[in-house]
Amino acid sequence: MKIAVFSTKPYDRRSLQAADGAHLHEWTWIEERLDAQSAPQAKNHEAVCAFVNDLLDRKTLETLAQNGTKFIALRCAGFDKVDLQVARELNMEVGRVPAYSPHAVAEHAVALLLTLNRRIREADARVHRFNFALEGLLGFDLYGKTVGVVGTGKIGLCFIRIMLGFGCRVLCFDPFPSPELAHLDAHLVELPELFEQSDIVSLHCPLSPQTHHLLNAQTLASMKRGAFLINTSRGGLIDTSAAIKALESGQLGALGIDVYENEGPLFFEDRSQSPRTDEEFSRLISLSNVLVTGHQAFFTREALDNIAQTTLANLNGWQTSGSCPNPVV
Ligand code: NAD
Repeated sequence: MKIAVFSTKPYDRRSLQAADGAHLHEWTWIEERLDAQSAPQAKNHEAVCAFVNDLLDRKTLETLAQNGTKFIALRCAGFDKVDLQVARELNMEVGRVPAYSPHAVAEHAVALLLTLNRRIREADARVHRFNFALEGLLGFDLYGKTVGVVGTGKIGLCFIRIMLGFGCRVLCFDPFPSPELAHLDAHLVELPELFEQSDIVSLHCPLSPQTHHLLNAQTLASMKRGAFLINTSRGGLIDTSAAIKALESGQLGALGIDVYENEGPLFFEDRSQSPRTDEEFSRLISLSNVLVTGHQAFFTREALDNIAQTTLANLNGWQTSGSCPNPVV
């Protein structure tokens, strides 16, 4: 089958080629992001493989369908950039990789939290300058602190287990809580209580119309003064301008994010030589209590292998039986 792979990076190519060891497919590697403009490059490809910031809106999907694409293989878990109603109208099936390494993302959330709390960036920079003074590097024990986890799915559960290991008290909120919570010493509460009581809040729910700007001026104000906020889920969960105001006023103690609401035109490319047009992002990263990584929480060897293998299983399943084992429903 001919497959057009958008947003291709060298590591995608390596892992997908390794997973397709039997050379069952003909791959076209396209570095551009998928959108309405780039979609014609998939002409005569039965399947398209897309990543997190590819935009599969009505126009893109219609162009793909007109040019013969029938199956979309997302090589990610989230599907907030796909207009599923239009895909259904066009009789296109959409598959995804529901779990590739929840540990990778949960561990990255912990890395953001520890780096911010123990001021690892500043400490390392000081030591490299032979400055061994500790003033200004004071952190706090995670042991005994209250951690609020929003979303108790695969990643949320991994994060909860790690925080329990640190000796934290864990509160969580989920409209459809994972049954596995029953075996953990974590407490389900309503969202306002979670915000009010948590020293640290970590977001692990999907982006949807219900969760867009879940953290806004009002909810940020309801958090404990000086609390830490960690987001490895989707940028749109946080109203960035409200978060900047909360950070500047000290209401929010620190913000650690791997995702940003307008990350599409920025992330996954070296833009060090390009003009910096996103003023809000520049303002955000100028704050010393903000730590940003560029959507790399998933980026471990294990996760890349799992992504490639599940994507291949989805493509092969759809090709041979007409149904993909991991459809987006
Ligand atoms: P999952 O589907 O296993 O779990 C999501 C949980 O969120 C579910 O339990 C669901 O009931 C809950 N939820 C839904 N609506 C909610 C709401 N309004 N409030 C609270 N909880 C709600 O998904 P997962 O594998 O744990 O992934 C979580 C998110 O992490 C994904 O949606 C994706 O956006 C993000 N993600 C990020 C990266 C990265 O590299 N940064 C990688 C993978 C996934």
